[in-house]
Amino acid sequence: MSAPRKVHIKSYGCQMNVYDSDRMADLLAEEGFCETATAADADVVILNTCHIREKAAEKLYSDLGRIRPLKQAAARTGRRLAVVVAGCVAQAEGPEIARRAGVVDVIVGPQSYHRLPTLLARAPHEGRLVDTEFPIESKFDSLPHSGPQAVRRRGVSAFLTVQEGCDKFCTFCVVPYTRGAEMSRPVAAVLAEAEELAAAGVREITLIGQNVSAYRGVGPDGQAWTLGRLLYAVAAIGEVSRLRYTTSHPADFDAALISAHRELAALMPFVHLPVQSGSDRILAAMNRRYTRAGYLRAIERLRAARSDLAFSSDFIVGFPGETEADFQESLQLVDTVGYAGAFSFKYSARPGTPAAALPDQVPEAVKLERLLRLQAAIARNQAAFNAKCLGARLPVLFEKPGRHPGQLVGRSPYMQPVHVMADASMIAKTATVTITGLSANSLEGTLAADDSDPRRAAQGEPETCPG
Ligand code: SAM
Ligand code: SF4
Repeated sequence: MSAPRKVHIKSYGCQMNVYDSDRMADLLAEEGFCETATAADADVVILNTCHIREKAAEKLYSDLGRIRPLKQAAARTGRRLAVVVAGCVAQAEGPEIARRAGVVDVIVGPQSYHRLPTLLARAPHEGRLVDTEFPIESKFDSLPHSGPQAVRRRGVSAFLTVQEGCDKFCTFCVVPYTRGAEMSRPVAAVLAEAEELAAAGVREITLIGQNVSAYRGVGPDGQAWTLGRLLYAVAAIGEVSRLRYTTSHPADFDAALISAHRELAALMPFVHLPVQSGSDRILAAMNRRYTRAGYLRAIERLRAARSDLAFSSDFIVGFPGETEADFQESLQLVDTVGYAGAFSFKYSARPGTPAAALPDQVPEAVKLERLLRLQAAIARNQAAFNAKCLGARLPVLFEKPGRHPGQLVGRSPYMQPVHVMADASMIAKTATVTITGLSANSLEGTLAADDSDPRRAAQGEPETCPG
């Protein structure tokens, strides 16, 4: 019997890419491939790329430079190493990649990767292939389901794509061009996948989409369901003790989504709500469709529904025309909201987006200096949030062994890693943990003595971190 062929997949960027990479692994598993952690012993290497910022795209070319000698070494021993570039850089720069990187065999966009097995079979005969179409058929209809073993290997927490693409056209963003128009998966398909994940042992599901709060999937009743309504249906799958969703847009919070936060114990009290800027002038130039006051109102409505809610965000500094006064408004917003954490980025001009053509591009040195000040404010808020967790009793979902013998790592409702001495049988279970220490960005704790019912711990314990 011949050894199984091996595929090495590297994912760059967002959770959507992590999900897509797993689907490509599932597709190739049907063709007899198993996954390998190293490119050197692989028969196929897939680089699943991100185009959101310039740096993300540059990484592709430096990784391709490292793969070239591996491909040459494989060829010397009579082995063929096929190199695939998938994802948003493939979509945006297919012909450019083909011109610059002779090492690449297949270039496939995010909407056509279900054709990967066929493309890999054709490439040895037909030469380099580029497939960056937005096909009529949905790739989801052609993707195999993950087997229970693959799901278990990936852990107790899983992503589930419910929505793709974006119609919002923020002026800085490539997503509407690389991922295409908004598309929502039907409710029945989402629920079937969620049930499979739960049956294979997944205990936390994060519904993902570039713009997940714009979800409008067709329900069994023929109506377009919103994200709020979908969350109620997924929460009804008993084994799933934790639900999350990302990334939502501040202008999209409707009453159903707010009441889901009030009523669904499984919906974790942590919302990633990117604001990008605290300045109304910059928000308008970004075409974000909300004001600073509108953003703060969305936060207030959510906090009124569930008082222990905490927030994270994304910020862009140095958008064209951003003045020091605009930037100060972003800095102040960090303290006003009191984020539990946030990502921050220097504005990166993306070819083809409206903002790239704006005058008043901010010099790199100014962007960097603002980024450092913003990151200091975010770190201060994050440390304050973590400090408030000291002494709290938090439900922790244990994910894997920790670095020290007898230690497990789990996650709090707020996504903080929590290190606890506990038996390995606790993996995939939720238990109440008393937080006893803080280190860098994680927490330490001990199992609460009275925790006898993990499901109650996941759903009923008071969570006392946020103020
Ligand atoms: N849909 C999400 C939203 O509306 O906030 C954002 C998705 S985007 C994949 C993730 C983050 O990348 C954005 O929130 C933004 O902060 C950042 N980003 C996007 N385009 C960028 C650019 N041109 N330069 C710097 N950061 C960018
Ligand atoms: Fe990009 Fe998000 Fe704006 Fe859509 S809503 S264009 S994904 S930043």
